[in-house]
Amino acid sequence: MGKTLFFNIPATGHINPSLAVVAELVKRGEQVLYINTAETRPVIEPTGAQFVAYPESSALAAQIGRTSGGTIPGNALALHQINEALLPFALDLIDHLHPDRVVFDSLAGWGKHAAHLRGMKAIASVSTFVLDPRINMPPMPTGMMLRTTAQVMGTLIPYLRTARRVRAKHGKVSLGGPLGSVMNTGDVNIVYTSAAFQPGAERMGPRFHFVGPSISARPDTTGFPFEQITGSPVVYISLGTINNQNLDFYRACFAAFGDHPGQFILSAGKRTDLAALNPIPANFIVRNFVPQLEVLQRSTVFITHGGMNSVHEGLWYNLPLIAIPQQIEQAVVAGQVEATGVGLALGMEPLGQPRAEELRAGLDRILGNLEGYRYAAERMGDTLREAGGYVRAADVILGV
Ligand code: UDP
Repeated sequence: MGKTLFFNIPATGHINPSLAVVAELVKRGEQVLYINTAETRPVIEPTGAQFVAYPESSALAAQIGRTSGGTIPGNALALHQINEALLPFALDLIDHLHPDRVVFDSLAGWGKHAAHLRGMKAIASVSTFVLDPRINMPPMPTGMMLRTTAQVMGTLIPYLRTARRVRAKHGKVSLGGPLGSVMNTGDVNIVYTSAAFQPGAERMGPRFHFVGPSISARPDTTGFPFEQITGSPVVYISLGTINNQNLDFYRACFAAFGDHPGQFILSAGKRTDLAALNPIPANFIVRNFVPQLEVLQRSTVFITHGGMNSVHEGLWYNLPLIAIPQQIEQAVVAGQVEATGVGLALGMEPLGQPRAEELRAGLDRILGNLEGYRYAAERMGDTLREAGGYVRAADVILGV
């Protein structure tokens, strides 16, 4: 067996899908060195990989942390700048460790560029949809497109300066334009969704392997009052772990559903002050964080921000979805939720701010045709469960 370097960023949504794959590689005898910021070590070491910390990891973590809150073009510029800072480190690792394979998260472009500069293939670990305007950009609301274009123009000059410095130092590096750092693909791509769910998968060719998510019980220490779930239907609401301080949205949910006969579970995010949400209606259980996989298995409908992991988890348990994106890439996922018939997209324009009446009408629409939506979610769930998961991902990686 050989040696794999795996470059990632410190974001739960990008680390989680990779863990089962890395554990499988290690199980098959591969030596895996997993590179990320120091605080992610406890999540990564149980896979059996050897952990390697990025230099100045706290500064990097802060920088990457900031990228997740900003606009997509802003994030893209920050990732280009992080790439500039980390490329020498990634090259050093390759030169000293002589890996057989390099895997990079699609946002950790320094792994890809270092591999290419050393004449190696680069394998992408893609925890989002593959976003490539040449093959598969789904239509976006016009206002969103115009705003994004204006934001890209704002990043153009700092991007060009960064690109010039990178090329002056390292020679030819294909950075892919201002948004290239958030749309990196590899020579081989492991994509954690199914071909049926990925927009435009049929046009993408053999470099793309749609292996689906690898969802298994997570050791979860979060206490949750499961005995209080007595109502029906049960609706679970979560905006994920990053852009989750949208108090107006939570209040709109209270207004929409406070008099609904169903029961509602709301994960409000670890940084949200729950006291600020009072008064909370009696048919809501609100927590900062919930054991999501357990809660989903007891739910009827999932109202989600359209994070890729959450959407996959909902479909894995055959739940119809209402996607309420908080960011443009989640809007792409929300669009696909609606296009594939597994649920609805709400609050696309203005982003993330659906009115209470829209929320209520959306839930009524799903509950009014629950069998139909559930059937579609089950069929899509089948495509995810049958895509091969971490076993197929490991086969592909070891075949490179
Ligand atoms: N999650 C959880 N409990 C919560 C909220 C989120 O376990 O209360 C998990 C969820 O199961 C998923 C991840 O956090 O695996 C969120 O990832 P996703 O890609 O959906 O969204 P992000 O947080 O990256 O925006």
